[in-house]
Amino acid sequence: MSQELLVIGGGLAGCEAALAAARSGVSVRLVDMKPAEFSPAHHSPRLGELVCSNSLRSDAITSAVGLLKAEMTLLGSAVMQAARATAVGAGKALAVDREAFAGHLEGQIAAQPLISRETARVDELPRDVAVLATGPLTAGALAEELAKITSSNHLLFYDAIAPIVSLESVDMQRAYWGDRYGEPGQGDYLNCPLSREEWGEFYSALISAEQVPLKDFESPKFFEGCLPIEVMAARGEKTLLFGPMKPVGLEDPATGKRPHAVVQLRKENAEGSLLNLVGFQTKLTYKSQDLVFRKIPALARAEFVRWGSIHRNTFLDAPRVLDPHQRLKAAPHLFVAGQLSGVEGYVESAAMGILCGVNAANLLHARPLLTPPPTSALGGLVTHLQNTATKSFQPSNINFGLLPPLEGRVFKRLRGAAQARRGLSDFLAWMEASSLAPAGEIPELPEETT
Ligand SMILES: Cc1cc2nc3c(=O)[nH]c(=O)nc-3n(C[C@H](O)[C@H](O)[C@H](O)COP(=O)(O)OP(=O)(O)OC[C@H]3O[C@@H](n4cnc5c(N)ncnc54)[C@H](O)[C@@H]3O)c2cc1C
Repeated sequence: MSQELLVIGGGLAGCEAALAAARSGVSVRLVDMKPAEFSPAHHSPRLGELVCSNSLRSDAITSAVGLLKAEMTLLGSAVMQAARATAVGAGKALAVDREAFAGHLEGQIAAQPLISRETARVDELPRDVAVLATGPLTAGALAEELAKITSSNHLLFYDAIAPIVSLESVDMQRAYWGDRYGEPGQGDYLNCPLSREEWGEFYSALISAEQVPLKDFESPKFFEGCLPIEVMAARGEKTLLFGPMKPVGLEDPATGKRPHAVVQLRKENAEGSLLNLVGFQTKLTYKSQDLVFRKIPALARAEFVRWGSIHRNTFLDAPRVLDPHQRLKAAPHLFVAGQLSGVEGYVESAAMGILCGVNAANLLHARPLLTPPPTSALGGLVTHLQNTATKSFQPSNINFGLLPPLEGRVFKRLRGAAQARRGLSDFLAWMEASSLAPAGEIPELPEETT
């Protein structure tokens, strides 16, 4: 087996994969089409470009993304080193000077003698061990090749993301379980009813809410099957009442009557701790979603762990086409990292890059492939990519809902700390068992308080 690893794509995931594999002693060829060619969202000639915001989100270890950052640091993350070195003031978030950040990352690549760089667009799937990290705007014939090998309906081109709420935050006085025409009070769907008056308020807020403008590379044509909720609403009140908010067959067991409208929530993970708002994919701004969706009485105080969105995004139907080590089932010599694998966000993309780099090196060295513990944030992302419970897979940011629930009753305000304690100690034990030496300082575990 060739000892050289090909990494295609020098974004956050590709840079991390290349550096992680090189740290394991593997020679890497890192190929990116920039600066000869740019995707519609990339403008900088540098690798590791942050295409939009300059924020890597919360730095608190008691948040899911903060925990993920701590785990990445322990694994020697190049993105975390670059981010710390180029941070700009942003309160509790970690934001960076994007030019300096990309420069730092490129410096790390240049200083690694085992990595050689090449500028080329890759249009074919490699025959030898490789990491595909070409991102949400994968260019050229590579996307078609991926569609062919995974069967075309498993390579998706749009996120049509409905908001997700945590079950525990739904007001159960204003919601009831039940499938359409099923036994009232039993079933897979959690129904959130609206009276005629509540509907009126919700509808007028929805049709006047602010939307995110489309980028010029985003098609203004949506698939009829997943129209944004506000586009349906603009066609007239009845479109929603006969569509995703149809109340027939969903009598409220509390009143025995059919509500005027119903929003159905469906399980998003195997535990059922997260629920998505069925049919609520949207281009509304996050601020508008916060305003409009809280007009659904059961969700007035809900915790929205993810807001809805629709944007151009090439990603794999991971649960169907990737194995538990992010390799294409149809071509197990090919690892898929970053946004293309079905995670969402800079930090998540980079994190999956490290894991793929480590495992690609292990494959080349004929060593066992590693899977982080499910209680860690990195493990939570792997769980998401293997979540066959969702029929319509969508990329996800890291959130604690992707991790197994905590044991026993833990007060809401203490849950982040409890997740961090459990996740970090399991992660450190896993690193030790996998002979991975912690690269950064071991962060202090948040104290146990009652
Ligand atoms: C418009 C847009 C805005 C976003 N904004 C944010 C945000 O604000 N915050 C956030 O957390 N996430 C954001 N994301 C989501 C996502 O986290 C980022 O896209 C992230 O950069 C993904 O990292 P990546 O390494 O997987 O891909 P990328 O960073 O996109 O890197 C892919 C690399 O592959 C190269 N490439 C592509 N095709 C080929 C090919 N065929 N041959 C050779 N090279 C190729 C590209 O030139 C690029 O350098 C955004 C996504 C998009 C599309």
